[in-house]
Amino acid sequence: MEMTAANGGGERIKQSHVIVFPFPRHGHMSPMLQFSKRLISKGLLLTFLITSSASQSLTINIPPSPSFHFKIISDLPESDDVATLDAYLRSFRAAVTKSLSNFIDEVLTSSSNEEVPPTLIVYDSVMPWVQSVAAERGLDSAPFFTESAAVNHLLHLVYGGSLSIPPPDNVVVSLPSEIVLQPEDLPSFPDDPEVVLDFMTSQFSHLENVKWIFINTFDRLESKVVNWMAKTLPIKTVGPTIPSAYLDGRLEKDKAYGLNVSKSNNGKCPIKWLDSKETASVIYISFGSLVILSEEQVKELTNLLRDTDFSFLWVLRESEMVKLPKNFVQDTSDRGLIVNWCCQLQVLSHKAVSCFVTHCGWNSTLEALSLGVPMVAIPQWIDQTTNAKFVADVWRVGVRVKKNEKSVAIKEELEASIRKIVVQGNGTNEFKQNAIKWKNLAKEAVDERGSSDKNIEEFVQALVASN
Ligand code: UDP
Repeated sequence: MEMTAANGGGERIKQSHVIVFPFPRHGHMSPMLQFSKRLISKGLLLTFLITSSASQSLTINIPPSPSFHFKIISDLPESDDVATLDAYLRSFRAAVTKSLSNFIDEVLTSSSNEEVPPTLIVYDSVMPWVQSVAAERGLDSAPFFTESAAVNHLLHLVYGGSLSIPPPDNVVVSLPSEIVLQPEDLPSFPDDPEVVLDFMTSQFSHLENVKWIFINTFDRLESKVVNWMAKTLPIKTVGPTIPSAYLDGRLEKDKAYGLNVSKSNNGKCPIKWLDSKETASVIYISFGSLVILSEEQVKELTNLLRDTDFSFLWVLRESEMVKLPKNFVQDTSDRGLIVNWCCQLQVLSHKAVSCFVTHCGWNSTLEALSLGVPMVAIPQWIDQTTNAKFVADVWRVGVRVKKNEKSVAIKEELEASIRKIVVQGNGTNEFKQNAIKWKNLAKEAVDERGSSDKNIEEFVQALVASN
């Protein structure tokens, strides 16, 4: 049952087969796909699973490799009762438990001398029950966490019962790094708080038998928290999971996540548009793939963009466009471009971009850090509040915009924050210098013998040795 493959150094190693299975959301699939590419580059054979619902809006397009297969399994609900998040999650779990079990049974029985059977599944930590499905079929498993180590540490404390979120009586929380978090810096769950908190903390269940816990961060970025967590959990940092061309360049042809989103921009190409702009002259605005902005928040942003002379590229999903005031697009077309989706990595690495107005989703935060782009943080929910705290006060690569009592960042606060960050042309300031520092450290982490590279290498070697 053994096969051999070339590892990154060209030597032949015994090949092992892993399954990688992300939760069907863009921000979960892209880091796990990127992690998969690193595993393949070190000689593993890999099957990437996506669910049928994800396959309707996303396609995988990575350079062909005999070591990479992908497979669609069903997550279609068996009942119509999926109106609430709780009902959706229960139905998702039931459907996927069945289809994943069938898939593993099939792949284990059909494996032949030519096909190495999988021995381990890297599952998205928000689906902890995958561990049981795998264990029943004799597979090992390793969760992959898609949030920062700091956020995971906080959620682990909640899971263990030593922290409540929101905290009683506005107490402050100290992290191992002596960073003090005010209540507004803790993860927040404005919608369906009990269900979402349970979903997030359940990531720490089923960890008793796992030997590896992967986190999409890097040691230098969160060293104290990582060291603290590593005292009780077998965590391994493996990030940032950004295409290699933007960091170490060691993975041939790895220039994009390879997760294509079927969204149209009515023929507008943001990159061509950026090409026509001066160095560091454009503000890039995006709130990721899920956030729905309030009408008031859109109004404050549009007032800002109409009443100032900022050039801007704004990603606003099709469903959000109705919130724009009449004629806004035409009135600002000499300075601004609104698209429904863009290749964010290409945008962030474009020299015309001066800063990133962001919701601080963890992928966006890591991308900005890895590409050296200062941030203006307007966090909305879950981990974004904690990420924004780190952006502004720990890594000092940005400013967090103050919100009013209705949780809206008003025009004046937005403008003041942007002006603190932006330096025109080739100028620099503390935020830009720090951003460049983190960019270099991110590259170092994934480059040969960097902390994340070593962790991935150790995992692959251990897996191969255990087969
Ligand atoms: N993204 C993109 N184009 C866009 C907006 C977002 O490619 O126009 C990508 C972005 O690069 C990131 C992901 O979508 O990888 C968003 O993930 P994040 O964790 O930042 O936020 P979420 O969407 O999960 O809230």
